Amino acid sequence: MTPDDVTPESVTGNRANEDGVGRLLPTPQQTSLADDRQILFFSTAENPPVPGIDHRDLPARPDDSATRVRRDPQIGDWVMIAPARQERTYKPPRRMCPLCPDPSGRSSEVPADDYDVVVFENRFPSLAAAHAGSGFRLPDRPGDLMVEAPGHGRCEVVCFSSDHEGSFSGLTPERARLVVDVWSQRTDDLLARDGVEEVFCFENRGEEIGVTLTHPHGQIYAYPFRTHRTETMLRAASTHRAQTGSDLFESILAGELSSGERILVQTAHTAAFVPFAARWPAEVHIYPLRHVRRLSELTDDEADDLARVYLMVLRAYDALYGRPLPYIASWHQYRADSAEGYLHAELFSVRRSADKLKYLAGSESGRDAFVTDKTPEDVAADLREVMA
Ligand SMILES: [Zn+2]
Repeated sequence: MTPDDVTPESVTGNRANEDGVGRLLPTPQQTSLADDRQILFFSTAENPPVPGIDHRDLPARPDDSATRVRRDPQIGDWVMIAPARQERTYKPPRRMCPLCPDPSGRSSEVPADDYDVVVFENRFPSLAAAHAGSGFRLPDRPGDLMVEAPGHGRCEVVCFSSDHEGSFSGLTPERARLVVDVWSQRTDDLLARDGVEEVFCFENRGEEIGVTLTHPHGQIYAYPFRTHRTETMLRAASTHRAQTGSDLFESILAGELSSGERILVQTAHTAAFVPFAARWPAEVHIYPLRHVRRLSELTDDEADDLARVYLMVLRAYDALYGRPLPYIASWHQYRADSAEGYLHAELFSVRRSADKLKYLAGSESGRDAFVTDKTPEDVAADLREVMA
C-alpha cells in the first residue's frame, strides 16, 4: 500500500490487544483538502467538531519528482532534498494562520468551526513521493557513490489545539492524552505502509528553533530510511547486548533510577531524567517504566501517566527562565518486532541561560562533538526546583 492509498481500515485505530497494541486508539473522521491531501479530525468528545469543505483554489500537489533523497557516500546517511519548501508559509499574521480553524473553508488548512486535535498532510513536505507504488525500497547499490531516489514517505502536521495562543504545556491532561493517542494511531498507520522505515513524531517550539508558525503544532515524518541517530542507538544497543547480555535502554533507565542524581520525577509508570551525557541545554529523557517499543503498546493508565509527566517537564521548561522555553521534543518509537529499541521522548532546548542561546558551532556542526557548559547534575537540580 502506498502512503496515498488510504482505506478506512488504514486509519482505524481500534486495534486494541492485537499486534501488541495496549489500548483502544481513537478513530479519526477523515476528509480531503482542496488539493487532495488527507486531513484527520481526532476527538474524545461525544459531539466532535465536524469537518467542513475546503473551498480554496490550491495548486496541484507536488509530483514524485518534487522531493528526492540522496545517499551521502561519506557516511551513508540519506539527505532529503525538497526545493518546494522554500515557498512555505513564513510567519503569517494571525488572521492568516493556516492552522486556526476556518468555518468558511477559504483561508486555512482546517475547514471547520473548531477542532480538538487535527492531522493533515504537510502542504510543503520534505518527503512527498506518495505514489512510488507498493513494494518501494530505497536502492542499495553498494559501491555506487551517487545513489538517488524519490523522496518516498509522508510528512504530517499535528495541531494540538485550535487555540492560536495556546501551547502544549497549557493543554489539559485529557487533551495531552488525546495527543499521545493521536501520535500512537499515526505511528502505527504509517509504520504499516510499504517503504516506511521509521516514523518520527516531534515538536519544534519557539522562533529560536526556527518555527515559522506560532500556532501550537508538531510534525510527523515517515522516512523511507533509518535515521542516523536511530541507527547509531540501535547499533549501540546491539553491541551492549552482545557484551553484557542485557538491554541497553533498560540498563540506562535502571541506572538513572538507582543513582537518582539526575531524576526529575518518577511516577507509577513513568520516569523523567537528565541523561548522564546530556548534549543539549535542559535535555530531558522520558521513559515508561515498562519496556515497550512504541506509544500504542502503552495501557490506558500508562498513557495517562506519560502525558502527565510530559506536561510536568514542559511546564518546568517554561518556569526555568520565567518565559516560554524554545525546545525540540523528539519521540523514539520502533516496530513491535524490532530487535532493539525502547519507547522514549528526548527533549532539549537551544537556550543555555536566561539570555543566551546555544549555537551549534564548529565542534558540534563540523564534528557532531558536543560541548556543554553546565553539568547534567546541575541541570537536573535547576529543573527539579521549578517542577510543580
Ligand atoms: Zn492559529
